[in-house]
Amino acid sequence: MQRVLVLDKNRQPLMPCHPARARQLLRRGKAAVFRRFPFTIILKDRESGVTQPTVLKLDPGSNTTGLALVADFARRGKVLVWAAELRHRGAAIRKALADRRAHRRFRRFKLRYRPARFNNRTRPSGWLAPSLQHRVDTTMTWVQRLMRWTPVTSLSQELVRFDTQAMQNPEISGVEYQQGTLFGYEVREYLLEKWVRKCAYCDAENVPLTIDHIHPRSKGGSNRVSNLTLACFPCNQRKGNRDVAEFLDRDPKRLARIEAQRRAPLQDAAAVNSIRWALWRNLVATGLDVEVGTGGRTKRNRSQQQYPKEHWIDAACVGESGANVRLDPFHKPLAIQAMGHGERQRARLNRYGFPRGYKLRARSYLGFRTGDVVFCAKPKIEVFAGRVAIRFRPSFVVTGADRKVESHPKYLSMIQKGDGYAYA
Ligand SMILES: [Zn+2]
Repeated sequence: MQRVLVLDKNRQPLMPCHPARARQLLRRGKAAVFRRFPFTIILKDRESGVTQPTVLKLDPGSNTTGLALVADFARRGKVLVWAAELRHRGAAIRKALADRRAHRRFRRFKLRYRPARFNNRTRPSGWLAPSLQHRVDTTMTWVQRLMRWTPVTSLSQELVRFDTQAMQNPEISGVEYQQGTLFGYEVREYLLEKWVRKCAYCDAENVPLTIDHIHPRSKGGSNRVSNLTLACFPCNQRKGNRDVAEFLDRDPKRLARIEAQRRAPLQDAAAVNSIRWALWRNLVATGLDVEVGTGGRTKRNRSQQQYPKEHWIDAACVGESGANVRLDPFHKPLAIQAMGHGERQRARLNRYGFPRGYKLRARSYLGFRTGDVVFCAKPKIEVFAGRVAIRFRPSFVVTGADRKVESHPKYLSMIQKGDGYAYA
């Protein structure tokens, strides 16, 4: 059950409480609603209270980042008390910048001669593309918010997919990749990265992949990672006990590619994921303890407890503290979608990038801004909650979970001011 976040009367965070308890407090007038999303109440007369050690756990992903708040209760052990999935808008940012670049290039190319000006920009070290930096920034926004609204005592993040330290040079050392050991999970993640999550023999993607010995054990092949690849189930069955040269005798090109790829060690795979490292530096800067985990360990923790694959569950299973976390697999996490705060550009462009009009400088109209969450009580339809998109005339568009309605603002009442995110 998603717990309700609780603040004391000085806005200091207390332990999140059960929704029934929150309803009781609200009914008795002992608390007021502080925020709707995430649902937070503020107590009217209480100051401070006992809190348990609480870890905010993060599983950063390219589209979705999982957030999980796990409290360590003395009697009941580690319990998930709150979870969310933060969807990023990296693709939208990338497209906006690509459009702008195309428009500028087109205008300049059309209009007049300009001397070449490229190669004259520098980037600070640690620079990330805006679409990537956005992922770090929005994640940090939520870390900081949860530090304000919940008694977070430490942080935990999945930093790398697999741990090369734990594997010690994986391409050289022998491998006993038994199921169940952490080592086996690290090897698996390593192979997924190395073989680009595809079947080596038919390039099948998004199918369950099994570990395959390129040169089979029975024919003297070794257990080293350099002799392992990933195969889909049908290919694995068809290859059976055969050597790769025998199996691919009709496809010498693929055979050569596999032989080359199997010998090439995965270069510095830890540095591949620049966003995760940037996020880690930001987390350390908060001053809280930051535990880091690997994808291999996350997967092991999750499968040992037989939880399904969800971003928020992965977050709860990150790192050493991710073992034995009690959670309900049917728990509904808060869905957070990064929406941005509108755009700075005032010109409306036609499809060639030339101005065809100008937007008003004002951002609000009749007390509303685009992005506010409102109740819509328009006559003749059921009252519903949604996100408002304003126009500079009294006809706004309200988008609810299952409908989109044009409404006069007089029928709208504010639930929560827009903060750059949409919630579900
Ligand atoms: Zn295959």
